[in-house]
Amino acid sequence: MDMEDFEKQRKILVETLVAEGVLFDEYARKAMLKVPRELFVPGHQKHLAYIDEPLPIGYGQTISAPSMVAIMTSHLKTRPGHKALEIGTGSGYQSALLAAIVGDEGHIYTIERIPELAEMAKENLEKIGYSSRVTVIVSDGTLGCKEKAPYDRIIVTAASPDIPKPLVEQLKPNGILVIPVGDRYLQRLLIVEKDEKGRTRIRKDTWCAFVPLIGKYGWTL
Ligand code: SAH
Repeated sequence: MDMEDFEKQRKILVETLVAEGVLFDEYARKAMLKVPRELFVPGHQKHLAYIDEPLPIGYGQTISAPSMVAIMTSHLKTRPGHKALEIGTGSGYQSALLAAIVGDEGHIYTIERIPELAEMAKENLEKIGYSSRVTVIVSDGTLGCKEKAPYDRIIVTAASPDIPKPLVEQLKPNGILVIPVGDRYLQRLLIVEKDEKGRTRIRKDTWCAFVPLIGKYGWTL
């Protein structure tokens, strides 16, 4: 498949996700139109890049299905200039979408616990010219990243038994945190909104199935 075919498929997928009502934020839509998902999918599966399925990226991990990425990115409502934190870098695709939205005035910090995946994500992000907008950190993301806090937005792309306390603490007033919470196999997507006084409100969205978040405030291996 050549570049043109991928671009055509990307456009069709984005239109479908909008029609299905899962890609409901304009910034998220533009980002999904812009970022080539095929670059974040391992070689032998590139032809599957625009099918709405999660795909294996090695080390037992997956790049989430486009519809799930669409829902999460839409709820996150990231805007130009934002500083955002992602837990679970994986392939780097979600970071790339956020980097496309925040632009040169914003920044994305993304944490991955598996060093090999962090390295792969760095290479992927370099390929699309987003290295300067994204910092990839190898550590336990359930602790967040205090040094760079607070964040306008926080997104967790692995399943957590609960909302890790440090993440709520590291969220700015008027900030939004999106996280799948539940058991190891099935979760509910939670949207945590902090108001200007620092009070939080939690909304429950769709059911989902993510790989586990492993760490101090997550699951044990
Ligand atoms: N957002 C990714 C997909 C994430 S898959 C993408 O766009 O491709 C979930 C990732 O979370 C896996 O790579 C897994 O290794 C990582 N992970 C699990 N627990 C973690 C933790 N405590 N800190 C950081 N990363 C973690």
